[in-house]
Amino acid sequence: MSFVVTPPAQVSVPVVGSKDRFPVGRIYCVGRNYVEHAKEMGFTGREAPFFFIKPADNCLVVDAGQTGEVNYPPMTEDYQHEIELVAAIGTGGKNIKAADAKKHIYGYAVGLDMTRRDRQTEQKKQGRPWCIGKTFDQAAPIGPITPAAQAGDVENAEIFVQVNGKDRQRSNVAKLIWNIGEIIEHISAAWELRPGDLIYTGTPEGVAAVVKGDTMVGSVAGLPTLTVKVI
Ligand code: MN
Repeated sequence: MSFVVTPPAQVSVPVVGSKDRFPVGRIYCVGRNYVEHAKEMGFTGREAPFFFIKPADNCLVVDAGQTGEVNYPPMTEDYQHEIELVAAIGTGGKNIKAADAKKHIYGYAVGLDMTRRDRQTEQKKQGRPWCIGKTFDQAAPIGPITPAAQAGDVENAEIFVQVNGKDRQRSNVAKLIWNIGEIIEHISAAWELRPGDLIYTGTPEGVAAVVKGDTMVGSVAGLPTLTVKVI
């Protein structure tokens, strides 16, 4: 087959212990999924989970031991990090029950849901979509995917991001409001999950701005560290 324009390249993420790579489909992101982060965003209580989507080509794929370089994006003066555990879907499905969700997960990675917070805040106030705040080139840095069986107890893992060696966010995945099984149940009720989909599961408190020259080191215990420099 030939195309009238050059087709986009398949985005893929390295897999720990394999030469084969994980091809990225959709990227689902969960909003306000840690209590203390919901509070710092001005919300309280357990609300139903909600989602937004980034396209696969928003990934900035960073190999183990490498430092990724992310360009400071246009149209923001408040470019913020959100450290997140990412679940990678290996087996798709609709209406997956939380109790069965683990069977659908290929593995896990460390991700950053980078955000133009000033733009997102404006859009929220105006009741408009978050698109410009959340979706832009390199808005989804991600490290290598570790197959689930080798990833340890990610649901009870410490999660943190440091900027220039100092703590910004530090929490535990156990503090997720909606756990990974529940997230998959909700997403797959609304959309058919497919192999290759990624789920950014939400961020704990401490989101803050980075500027050019800053280096972010993100971690979820048991997974390769994600290091990204803002240029
Ligand atoms: Mn997020």
